[in-house]
Amino acid sequence: MSRPTQAIIDLEALRHNFVLAQSLAPPTLAKQPKTIAMVKANAYGHGAIEVATALAPIAPAFGVASIEEALDLRANGIAQPILLLEGTFTSDEVTIAAQNDFWLMVENQPQVDAVINATLARKVTIWLGMDTGMHRLGFQPNDIQSAYDTLHKSHNVNDEIVITSHFACADDLDSEATLAQIKQFDLHMPTAKKTLTSLANSAAILAWPQAHRDWQRPGYMLYGNSPFDAPQENADQLKPVMSFESAVISLRTIKAGESVGYTANWTAERDSTIATVTVGYGDGYPRQAPNGTPVLINGIRCPLVGRVSMDMITVDVTDLATVAIGDKTVLWGPELPVNEVATVCGTIGYELLTRMPARVPRIYR
Ligand SMILES: *Cc1c(COP(=O)(O)O)cnc(C)c1O
Repeated sequence: MSRPTQAIIDLEALRHNFVLAQSLAPPTLAKQPKTIAMVKANAYGHGAIEVATALAPIAPAFGVASIEEALDLRANGIAQPILLLEGTFTSDEVTIAAQNDFWLMVENQPQVDAVINATLARKVTIWLGMDTGMHRLGFQPNDIQSAYDTLHKSHNVNDEIVITSHFACADDLDSEATLAQIKQFDLHMPTAKKTLTSLANSAAILAWPQAHRDWQRPGYMLYGNSPFDAPQENADQLKPVMSFESAVISLRTIKAGESVGYTANWTAERDSTIATVTVGYGDGYPRQAPNGTPVLINGIRCPLVGRVSMDMITVDVTDLATVAIGDKTVLWGPELPVNEVATVCGTIGYELLTRMPARVPRIYR
């Protein structure tokens, strides 16, 4: 019927992972922590509208990188507040944000000015970013109090401002950097009555309970993959959401000494059976995948051989007892972690997932 290359998305697994993130920072008498689901970059490649729709009954808010991403969710029925993680890029966005109940990250002075100088029909909720050591976004800790005061005084701003920061190394469980960032954060918390706080990304939700505050911000873990490169007891409970699948479309045997694919970068050392699978870098399968990258054919690990083409890859299936045209192939999924494929390709699972193009149909189960 059609090209068998597709990404099967397990929405039950997604909800399981969200509930896990919530349960790791449980409510107490003093605190009712909440979980904002990160659905930027098309929900890490999983389909932002479908993911947000599936989480809408349990997620109180969503996070995206741009107002276009937020408007797309609104246009498709998502009613929750949506946080713009980089705030506004131009001042006209403040008006659109207020109209649409988008929350704004504010992390530099022009963004503060844009908020306080806007003419708004209703107030906006502000997340005020503090740079505690990542040095990418946020006010310097010593400038937080004055940024806070300016915003708090403004008629455009809701009373409850969320003070926030982001970790550079939370996925490194041996690093001192995360504790140092938390210390900076707590030391420079503005004196104010009504602030809330937010620190934890996936890695910190899973492994740094000191970072659990009023709002947790899980991204990668929602999609069921671990931010760590070693087993970790909480991360081990995650369920991968995507299974990236294709199928064998051609088979041949080649003789020892013959090569496969563009640039002939792999040469058979024995007579070999080569399966051609219809998935390539045009589908987001990484072109840098080296010879030997694992591919599952009929559930069995086989080595990629030869260069990844735009629409196809070639796999050495000599050791399979049976193989036929049409056999199911898995590039990554519950049985083959995307992290493992990413590691042999010199990247991270985040990148492989987020750069999957629209050409790959997402099938929701
Ligand atoms: C993307 C993002 C997150 C989520 O990070 P993960 O590592 O995917 O959990 C959290 N906070 C901010 C500010 C982000 O931009």
